[in-house]
Amino acid sequence: MHVLTNSVHAGRHDLRTLGLHAPPIDRSTTYPLSSLEEGTHSLEELAGGAKSASNPVYQRLLNPTVARWEAGVAALEGAEAAVAFASGMAAITATLMAAKASGKAHVVAVRPIYGGTDHLLATALLGGEVTWATPDSVAEAIRPDTGLVLLETPANPTLAMVDIADVVAQAAGVPVAVDNTFATPVLQNPLALGATYAIHSATKALGGHGDVTGGIVACGEAAAQPLRQVRILTGAVLDPQAGWLLHRGLATLALRVRASQEGAAVVAGRLAAHPGVATVTYPGLSGGDPLGLVGRQLSGPGSMIAFRPTGGYDRASRMMKAVDMITPAVSLGSVDTLIQHPAGLTHHVVAEDARDAHGISPDLLRLSVGIEHPDDVWADLERALDLSL
Ligand SMILES: *Cc1c(COP(=O)(O)O)cnc(C)c1O
Repeated sequence: MHVLTNSVHAGRHDLRTLGLHAPPIDRSTTYPLSSLEEGTHSLEELAGGAKSASNPVYQRLLNPTVARWEAGVAALEGAEAAVAFASGMAAITATLMAAKASGKAHVVAVRPIYGGTDHLLATALLGGEVTWATPDSVAEAIRPDTGLVLLETPANPTLAMVDIADVVAQAAGVPVAVDNTFATPVLQNPLALGATYAIHSATKALGGHGDVTGGIVACGEAAAQPLRQVRILTGAVLDPQAGWLLHRGLATLALRVRASQEGAAVVAGRLAAHPGVATVTYPGLSGGDPLGLVGRQLSGPGSMIAFRPTGGYDRASRMMKAVDMITPAVSLGSVDTLIQHPAGLTHHVVAEDARDAHGISPDLLRLSVGIEHPDDVWADLERALDLSL
C-alpha cells in the first residue's frame, strides 16, 4: 500500500476482531496464566526472542500495545519486524550488543553520526573496538571480527549523504545498520537497499510532537530475535503509554514529513539567498546532494537544514537567542521548528578534531523545520539574522 495509507492503517489489523476502532492501552505488568505449563512455554519462547507467545507473561517480555506500533513501523520500513526500545540510544545500544553477542565486537562507523552514538562508540563503553571510516573507506576498514557497519544518511548534523547500497557492497556480508532518523521511513527505506537494520530515534519525527521518547529497529525476523533478547535482559523497554502515543503519531507521519519538507525547501532557498548566510546544506539545494541520491535512495530532501551564518560562533550564538517563534532547543522532527548549535550541544561530546574534520564548525546551526507556514518560519529567521548582526 501507499505510504499515506500504511501510516494510517499499519499495526491496526487486529482491532476489528477486538471490536475496537482505536488501539487500546494495555498497561499490565503481569498476565494471568491459564496453567503453569502455558507460562513456562510462553516464557521460553519469549526469552528465545520470539515475536509473540500465547501469554505475554510479563511486560518486560512483551506488550501488545507496543507490539502494534512495532508492526506499524515494520510495515512502513518494508521490514518483517521492528523492535521498540525506551529511546533511540537504547535501540542503538541493543544493535551494538546484538552484534557483539554474535562474537564479532569490532564496529566500523561512518562519521558524522549523532553525538551520543559517536560518544558511545568512542568511549568503548560496551567494549569492542571502533574504526572510523569515510563512505569510501568502509571496505578497507572491515576485519574478520567486524560485526557491524553503522552509518547515518542524511547524517546528523551536517546532512552529509551516504550511498547505502554502496556501503552494503563494501561491507561484503557484514550487517549494515542505518540510522534513518533524519530521513524517516516515509522518505527512505534502508532495508530495500540491502541494509540489515533501519534504526530510529522515535523521539524525533516518528513521535513528531516533542512529547515522547522512544527508539525502534526495523529488520528481518532473524535479526529481530537477538534484539528482543537484549531488550529483555537489559530492560530497555518502551513504556506502553509511549508506544500508544507513537502509534497514534504514526497515522500523520507521512503528512507531517511532506508538509515540513515543503516548508524546509522554501526556507533553505531563502537562507541560501540571504547575505547573512555563508553556506546552506540541504539535500534539495545544489551542492547538497553530490551523489545524486535524492530521487534514488531518498525520495525527497526532508526537513533538516544545516547552515552557517556569517560572523562565526558569536553570530550563531546570538541567532539562537534572537529567534522568537522558533524554539532554540535540541531534538528535531517536531511539528514546530527547532534550531540548535551542534558543536555546543548535540555534538559537543564528539572529539574536537572529529568535529573539525566533518564540518561541525563553531558557526554551524541546525534547523529542523516544522509544519508551520514557511513564510512565518522565514520571517522569524530573517529577523534573527538581522538582530544578530
Ligand atoms: C536523537 C538521535 C538519536 C538518539 O535518540 P534518543 O531518542 O535521544 O535516545 C540517535 N540518532 C539520531 C540521528 C538522533 O537524531
